[in-house]
Amino acid sequence: FETVRLILGDQLNSGHSWYDEINDQTLYVIAELISEQTYVKHHIQKQVAFFAAMDAFAQALQEEGHQVLHLTLDDTHRFRELSHLIREVCGLVECKHFQYQRPDEYRLLSILRQLKLEGCHTSEADTQHFLCDFETLPKEFESEKTVRLEHFYRRMRKRHNILLTQEQKPEGGKWNFDVENRKKLKKADIADIPEPLVFCTSTREYKDRLEKYSVAGFGQISEKLVWPINRQQALNLLAHFIHTCLCHFGTYQDAMTDQSEHAWSLYHSRLSFALNSKILSPLEVIRAAVDAYDSNPSHELLAQVEGFVRQILGWREYVRGMYWANMPGYETKNHLNHKRSLPSYFWSGDTKMNCIKQAVSQSLDTAYAHHIQRLMVTGNFSLLAEIEPKQVHEWYLGIYIDAIEWVEIPNTLGMALYADGGLIASKPYVSSGAYINRMSDYCASCEYNVKVRSEKGACPFNALYWRFMEKHREWLTRNPRMNMVYRNWDKLEDRERQRTLELAERQLIALEQL
Ligand code: FAD
Ligand code: SF4
Repeated sequence: FETVRLILGDQLNSGHSWYDEINDQTLYVIAELISEQTYVKHHIQKQVAFFAAMDAFAQALQEEGHQVLHLTLDDTHRFRELSHLIREVCGLVECKHFQYQRPDEYRLLSILRQLKLEGCHTSEADTQHFLCDFETLPKEFESEKTVRLEHFYRRMRKRHNILLTQEQKPEGGKWNFDVENRKKLKKADIADIPEPLVFCTSTREYKDRLEKYSVAGFGQISEKLVWPINRQQALNLLAHFIHTCLCHFGTYQDAMTDQSEHAWSLYHSRLSFALNSKILSPLEVIRAAVDAYDSNPSHELLAQVEGFVRQILGWREYVRGMYWANMPGYETKNHLNHKRSLPSYFWSGDTKMNCIKQAVSQSLDTAYAHHIQRLMVTGNFSLLAEIEPKQVHEWYLGIYIDAIEWVEIPNTLGMALYADGGLIASKPYVSSGAYINRMSDYCASCEYNVKVRSEKGACPFNALYWRFMEKHREWLTRNPRMNMVYRNWDKLEDRERQRTLELAERQLIALEQL
């Protein structure tokens, strides 16, 4: 072979120009590796989903006539590092060129850029996946500089001509329909939550391999994998979302319930695995949503579609920009100097706090939680309880089906934990139990009482929230939006404030028992 081309597990983009031509002199290498299973503990569904998707991608390339070397752990277990494997393969086939697509993770990019292969020319290609070019990122994002999502998102809408009128104004007269969205699910709405579309790839072969080499992760897995692992399944999931869920996507985007067997998926797309493994392109997902609006335009649908487009064209591209502008170094940020250990119920769901129990148990069962469960339940709690950001980051990176560093780190350290000192979030995303009670029915069956602050049995989110606000009062009050919050706190009697803060201290000491 003249050329060896490496395909990483999250580079399953069948539309890449690499595959435009069938060339017998090009060997595509796709490999399961122990080193990719062990840098943090991963959910077993995540491990199996990546292995199964790589397997399906290798088969599809072969069927198209490409030369493919698909290596499983049986072939690669003796290689402790990716670079060792590449050296061996390039040496064996005596290729003149080694090519790779630029990894989206700093760790892997460094490994590949440092790789020197004797007698073999190495080159890097773009993944041809994102909507903001890698070369454009430094113009949009600078190290240690705050960039607000809203401005970036509007530029992206204009650049890609998405939901714009002929006069280049935002469709419907507004860039953002958030105020019309984000409602709680009423009791009567719960029966209407759609049944999620799931798949049934056999997990046995992949599970056995992971167990054989002692790298099987944590969490639940059944005989069948529910996540889409090939192009057809991913397109089916996209179509299901557009037809069944998009009409309520924005409305119930932040809602949470424990009253339905479909509560885990609600009206969310669950496309993040297909997107992050690059089985789907962000543009085709956005186009599908915009086409649905174009073929049936109404103000109600626009609010849903805009909310969805904002997540992919806005947030997803934005966090990637923030990641590259601030790496290396972002992964170790700890602006608030938090040091507590992650409580053991993050690994079991065994806690009296029903919201945490629901979010964690669901994550262990499905390798998935939706954004508000991640941000305002487990994230909020981790920030209020002052858990060390590195431990929280490793938990998120391990547990979620879609977790890859470039998207997980800015969301966890930046958005959820304020560990970057406000590069991403304009203020810490903290709330008392009142927010969780407003957006969910979790509190109704909780052992704690969300309505009280300082009494025995009070919801831990309440006292911990006021402790956080009091502790950081000096700098938080520089933000005028916070003054209202402090006015409510200051109206309380001194004794009530004191009792609340004392309860918070006791809750922190007994964090494991909450
Ligand atoms: P939907 O609700 O249907 O949204 C559609 C798509 O928008 C998603 O598939 C995703 O691609 C994109 N999107 C939405 N919000 C974000 C966001 N904040 N950042 C980037 N993309 C977004 N997302 C990941 O893909 N991987 C992660 O590792 C990850 N870690 C997170 C950690 C924390 C602490 C938080 C608060 C959020 C994290 N997110 C992560 C963002 C978001 O929670 C998930 O993208 C979303 O829940 C995936 O489910 P979905 O596909 O059903 O999304
Ligand atoms: Fe969570 Fe507090 Fe509500 Fe219980 S009462 S579910 S701990 S917010």
